[in-house]
Amino acid sequence: MNKEKIRKIIKAITGSKKTVVLTGAGISTESGIPDFRSPGGIWSRFDPAVMSAEVLNRDPAYFYRKAVPMLEFFGEIADKKPNPAHFVLRDMEKDRLISSIITQNIDGLHTKAGSENVYEVHGSLREGYCMTCGKRVSFNLLADRVKNNEIPPTCESCGGILRPDVVLFGEELPACFNIAVTEVESSGLLLIVGSSLEIIPVGSLPDFAGRYIILNKGRTLYDNGAYATLDEKAGNSLKVIYNEIKNIEKRL
Ligand code: NAD
Repeated sequence: MNKEKIRKIIKAITGSKKTVVLTGAGISTESGIPDFRSPGGIWSRFDPAVMSAEVLNRDPAYFYRKAVPMLEFFGEIADKKPNPAHFVLRDMEKDRLISSIITQNIDGLHTKAGSENVYEVHGSLREGYCMTCGKRVSFNLLADRVKNNEIPPTCESCGGILRPDVVLFGEELPACFNIAVTEVESSGLLLIVGSSLEIIPVGSLPDFAGRYIILNKGRTLYDNGAYATLDEKAGNSLKVIYNEIKNIEKRL
């Protein structure tokens, strides 16, 4: 790994009054969850034109008939475990090296790893809710109903239609996205981990950051404006950066 780049990144993190992290699907590939474009990833499993809020609202039964591969994919994600990259970020939060994590991931792995200040701006697979009365249900209950051919799955309280608590294609982001933008604006550093930054609006968060660093395998559209980039696996980069910071602290 490039030692000069690591030194530059460490200096930026330790010198920043407030560092916010943005993560994407790339941080979870080492947990066995494919990212957006890899074979077996979302695009190759179902059609984004159908898995949209517009289709769900217009024809819920059609949405759910087509949603079976998506729910299977979600079911596979739900069993996965955090990897070293998630645990390093948890430790960095405990040590006040970072103040919050904004994640595009729906896998809930930051929360499972023990991170506390997490903004899940694309929702999560823990729950679903009724589109009429808002009653919340576990995601598993919703998926089981669909598996048992209850299409569309309905709310026990009011008979309304249940939906997963994830942001579908063409849908507005939850209110926590506005908080996430404010977090980035008020930070001195945005640390981006495992995201191509191609999904808007989250992918445009670097525009709100004074300074940003990208830890990603492969190039992103924002590389040219980055303070530093590291083209390595997230687990490796974060472990090296964190261990080096701890070593420096020990020597002081
Ligand atoms: P993306 O697939 O567009 O980009 C992921 C990036 O991570 C790629 O550039 C890839 O080269 C890089 N990468 C892969 N493995 C890596 C590793 N081990 N270390 C470092 N980098 C690695 O992902 P995105 O930008 O997050 O956008 C995808 C969208 O799909 C998001 O909106 C997200 O909600 C959703 N999604 C989520 C999950 C999940 O919850 N785990 C999985 C797939 C897709």
